[in-house]
Amino acid sequence: GATIRLGIAGYGNLGRGVQAAVAKNPDMELVGVYTRRDPAALSLPDGAPAFHMDQLSGHTEDIDVLVLCGGSKSDLPAQGPALAALFNTVDSFDTHAKIPEHFAAVDAPATAAGKTALISAGWDPGMFSINRVYGEALLPDGETYTFWGRGLSQGHSDAIRRVPGVAAGVQYTIPSTEAIAKVRAGERPVLETRDKHVRECFVVLEDGADSEAVRTAIVTMEHYFDEYDTTVNFIDAATLASEHTSMPHGGFVFRSGNTSDEHAQVIEYSLSLQSNPEFTSSVLVAYARAVHRMNQAGQTGAKTVFDVAPGLLSPKSPEQLRAELL
Ligand code: NDP
Repeated sequence: GATIRLGIAGYGNLGRGVQAAVAKNPDMELVGVYTRRDPAALSLPDGAPAFHMDQLSGHTEDIDVLVLCGGSKSDLPAQGPALAALFNTVDSFDTHAKIPEHFAAVDAPATAAGKTALISAGWDPGMFSINRVYGEALLPDGETYTFWGRGLSQGHSDAIRRVPGVAAGVQYTIPSTEAIAKVRAGERPVLETRDKHVRECFVVLEDGADSEAVRTAIVTMEHYFDEYDTTVNFIDAATLASEHTSMPHGGFVFRSGNTSDEHAQVIEYSLSLQSNPEFTSSVLVAYARAVHRMNQAGQTGAKTVFDVAPGLLSPKSPEQLRAELL
């Protein structure tokens, strides 16, 4: 059949990752990269056409699914609803506490326009969310545990970089090995947020910035840092460049439950990622395929990964999937 034509809205880590993922999916084609900056100034590896974001409204006939690669903190709350009025979309919105609000904001314009807008795909939210649903549904008498890291968190690093006075910065999430061992052993421990992880930030200040004000703004930031023990380390730009440029991540979703008084069951899903954004983008591209199919089937409005049947992610036909993977 015809290829699925994708656009990329926003060219940062995820935007570059989507470009890499399209190259691995022969049924996909990249139509254009759209940016709020000067498109001519982007360095696009294989010469995909670059456009200004303002040109998107003239390109609605050229793009089957627009992959939104903006930041969750400031970009997606505005870009998600505006672009869902014009295109089928996929985003990776990861401010968990605000997902219901984002869903509603995207649902109204998408429904009105007959578009399909999948929000909060990626790995968490995304693949981890699916594993939490499976765990709860299969083992109703049980506990779900999610651990992240050790890894660099895109969402949290993005949030740090938007604090006034911050020139650059990264955030690492570090899981507790004792906590993981107890969960894996089926002990069903009660763990407070603070028992499971700590957060560690490395920040480069702007000239003249007040380090204590920056530290306070970070450690008290709602939804991102206020429920964790967070340390903020101030470093120079050279140290950031030499020691903090790779973006590894990963983590675990466990469901530990009891099917009878005699038997405990433990489900474990884990990810070990050399590049968080490249993996996230690979997930976004698979979901773009599903969004295209769902829109063609008349399933419009906002959706989440819970609404997408797994077979829709695959380029293989239902017949092929039954024969090969069932
Ligand atoms: P980036 O900061 O790299 O990019 C975000 C936006 O910033 C881009 O769309 C781009 O918009 C702009 N931008 C990028 N580079 C520059 C630059 N050099 N100068 C000026 N502007 C720039 O974020 P990521 O791509 O790493 O992540 C995006 C979001 O993805 C995160 O906020 C996070 O919430 C989410 N995420 C979700 C995951 C999940 O599992 N659900 C996992 C990982 C990330 P423009 O081109 O228009 O200027």
